[in-house]
Amino acid sequence: MRKIFQLTLISIMATMLANGVLAAQFDPQEATNSYLMVVTQEEQANTNGYVDAGYRLLLLEPLVEIAIAFLLLQLGLSRKWRDLAERLLKRRFLQAFVYVPIYLVVTTLILFPLAWYRDFYTEHKYGLSTQGFGDWFIEYLQANAFSLIGFSLFVAILYLILRRSPQRWWMWGAGLAVGFFGILLFIGPLYIQPVFNEYRPMDEGPLKNRILSIARANGMAADDVKQVDESKQSTRVSANVSGLFGTSRIALNDNLLNRASADGVEAVMAHEIGHYVLNHQWKLITYILLIFVICFAATNATFQAIFRRRGEAWGLRGIDDYAAFPLLYAVATVYMFLATPALYKIVYVHEVEADLFAINATQNPEAWAEVALMTAEYRKLHPPQWEENWLNHHPSPYARIYMAMRWRAENLPAATLVEP
Ligand SMILES: [Zn+2]
Repeated sequence: MRKIFQLTLISIMATMLANGVLAAQFDPQEATNSYLMVVTQEEQANTNGYVDAGYRLLLLEPLVEIAIAFLLLQLGLSRKWRDLAERLLKRRFLQAFVYVPIYLVVTTLILFPLAWYRDFYTEHKYGLSTQGFGDWFIEYLQANAFSLIGFSLFVAILYLILRRSPQRWWMWGAGLAVGFFGILLFIGPLYIQPVFNEYRPMDEGPLKNRILSIARANGMAADDVKQVDESKQSTRVSANVSGLFGTSRIALNDNLLNRASADGVEAVMAHEIGHYVLNHQWKLITYILLIFVICFAATNATFQAIFRRRGEAWGLRGIDDYAAFPLLYAVATVYMFLATPALYKIVYVHEVEADLFAINATQNPEAWAEVALMTAEYRKLHPPQWEENWLNHHPSPYARIYMAMRWRAENLPAATLVEP
């Protein structure tokens, strides 16, 4: 699909000209269809298989996690780990750093086949990964080491809140969860990703200047663009703009540079700059706080109801007992699962905004259509509307190309498009 990409785009333009699409009247629907025709039925079936496997895991993983939590409570293991933590350490805050690592190691071991299936097997089966098992496994361990530290700290602070405010913990707890999420969103790309990949300044040249020019034109202080060697892990094109309180970093991966045209790269970077300029990180955090507050409040009510029935049988003392963590986690998992379509919708809406920002900033709808079509390797080309609405966190290639063609129809008079 990749090699013939540029050639195909030229042939699309030729077909559009031949069909009179560009002449007299420009029909955005017809133009969108011309782009979609490039992707063969076989390629579509391949991508659909990949996406559907992801959906199955979206449902399966929470179910397995809930089953594990139930077993840990039923077999009394959680209670034993809490007792061990209490024997080893006096301070309740520090006991989290015994209980949580045991909990995480055990559950991670049980969940390993699923993690392998999702992140290694499926990515290879559908041709998206370039990594051998050894390299993948080392990164898997590193990522788990990070989450072990971060999650232990999160639970320790959460239980401090649970002890201080057993009635209102869900409010402060939601704030804490969002705080951790925000830190991850901000510092992840800046401090965690460099552990896995090398960031170096992008080569000087006209393309880099164009990217920086879009940033400056939209009020973003940026003097460099970084290049990431992500081709060692995957074939996907990607880029990001991250920043915290005035600092910012624009980064793109080598797949994007190698596979897209200069205009395509510019379009992707304009999209990422759009996320930054439109303050999407702060807006996302606000919406997610709202979702967490609702989920945690519901978790609190459900936890108490189950605790009244089963608490004694499981040897649990209350909501602030580390031994009750699997129950708290399982209930929260159910509500977070139910909130998934809402979370996806929030991300989706911001993606559309960044898409439109990119098209407006570059004035180049064809470039946007070019890179949108590339995402057909891992996103369904034109899913049913209900799937687009509730299961997509990013617009489908169809939705993105149509957006670009609609812009073209409204902004460029058809007559100017017909050139000798
Ligand atoms: Zn985006």
